Amino acid sequence: MLQFHQVHKAYATPQGPLPVLRGIDLRLAPGESLALMGESGSGKSTLLHLAAGLDLPDSGEVCLAGRSLSALTEPARAHLRRDTLGLVFQQFHLVPSLNVGDNLRLQARLAGRDDPAWSSELLERLGLAGLERRYPEQLSGGQQQRLAIGRALAPRPALLLADEPTGNLDEETADEVLTLLLALVRDTGSALLVVTHSPRVAAPLDRCLRLSHGRVDDAAITGAT
Ligand code: ATP
Ligand code: MG
Repeated sequence: MLQFHQVHKAYATPQGPLPVLRGIDLRLAPGESLALMGESGSGKSTLLHLAAGLDLPDSGEVCLAGRSLSALTEPARAHLRRDTLGLVFQQFHLVPSLNVGDNLRLQARLAGRDDPAWSSELLERLGLAGLERRYPEQLSGGQQQRLAIGRALAPRPALLLADEPTGNLDEETADEVLTLLLALVRDTGSALLVVTHSPRVAAPLDRCLRLSHGRVDDAAITGAT
């Protein structure tokens, strides 16, 4: 589903290049769930951006659904993203001018995989049923986050990439939303790569990796690989 082969990435800074990823090898099978942990600034969001083809490695290779992302044109990458991925970021990126129902179905419609029954089920299970005609600004933070998760899962993506999907919710709401996310991912059959600071989030997943000094720390791998 997703492979990293010896991926290196540095950012240009006024002080010179800042190496962030220094030889990442990673393999995520279809349906597999992986937690990515590591200190702030260790490169977790960078790794997720590369996985989505939103940025490209300096060297090495990222393959998504069997395609090498660096070998594709940007429009081809966008196409592959739309067909393959669900993305959830810490910022919800909801469309303010679209109501809840249209926000939820936006990605599915773009991907040509709108399924009204599944959308209704998502709204129901995310506790958003009855709010379809509201606009994002009329929702609580937790509701907005649940809507962003629903939107990512509405097209039944082969892979869900989630960057601290509950990072700005209080602990109790965060746990609720994550439990929901994991159940929905299981039912969808999506593979999952989730960035989290919480060992509680990581515990039920197939594997947990820790990014440290630009490398994946194998010692932190638990379970089957
Ligand atoms: P956090 O847990 O705080 O979200 P992270 O593990 O996601 O951290 P990244 O956002 O991937 O970390 O950043 C890794 C390093 O790269 C940090 O030192 C950051 O300052 C730097 N960095 C990130 N984006 C850029 C950029 N566009 N230009 C320059 N440096 C950047
Ligand atoms: Mg980050």
